[in-house]
Amino acid sequence: MDLIDSHCHLKGFKDKGELNAVLQRAADAGVTRLITVGTSPKDWVPYREMTAANPGKIDYTVGLHPCYVDAEWSDAVSNISTFFIPPNAPVALGEIGLDYFHLPKDPVEAGELMIHQEEAFRQQLMLAGELDCPVVIHSRNAFDDTFRMIQESGVDWNRIVFHCYSYGAEEIAKINECGGRGSFTGIVTYKSAPEIRDALRSQGIDRLMLETDCPYLTPEPHRGKPNEPAFVANIAERCAEALAVPLDELAAQTSANTKAFFQLA
Ligand SMILES: [Zn+2]
Ligand SMILES: [Zn+2]
Repeated sequence: MDLIDSHCHLKGFKDKGELNAVLQRAADAGVTRLITVGTSPKDWVPYREMTAANPGKIDYTVGLHPCYVDAEWSDAVSNISTFFIPPNAPVALGEIGLDYFHLPKDPVEAGELMIHQEEAFRQQLMLAGELDCPVVIHSRNAFDDTFRMIQESGVDWNRIVFHCYSYGAEEIAKINECGGRGSFTGIVTYKSAPEIRDALRSQGIDRLMLETDCPYLTPEPHRGKPNEPAFVANIAERCAEALAVPLDELAAQTSANTKAFFQLA
């Protein structure tokens, strides 16, 4: 069984000297490829170096995550295009988007930050259109604005993934209708998340991709421990059960989907 973790954050493991052990445990669990996702200028260069050191095993993306957007966002965003040059170019732009869940309590501060998030998202979508590359979307408590801004950007929906899908079945139907997709994390294993499994079934297996989003969102039965790429295997099992397909088939299909979406060599 060959699984892909289509969205993880490996910098913390590297900084603690745990990366090789984490990669070994992933390989032992059948997770043979990983995409480590950029969030701010602090991780873009380390991820490029990780990709260069692990060809065919680790790929990376570059983007300014909405939770890292501040008043200085445009300096960071203006550097993104310099990464999209071979060798070791990123496989996607992301993660980018809108996050209204983690806003400050003060309504004035929150409003200012929302404007910055929107501007940073708009500019990065424009860049993605120019680069004609896949786009990893982070969207939390902000479905309508996220959807509208992607529509307005003119970016090809076939290039769009709503990572860590956390909306309902109705929203994913809307995304799928346009040509976009959702990828699913350990949330699908949580007893408390039947609506996420409904969304999973609504989309089906045809464009499904799996991800841990580690070190966050540890799946069952590992909750309480830090998340890591090996646990894609647990997410795959739960998705296979929810979709009533054999695990082997789900692994093969999700890996093929991920390779095609990110154009992995
Ligand atoms: Zn995210
Ligand atoms: Zn992430």
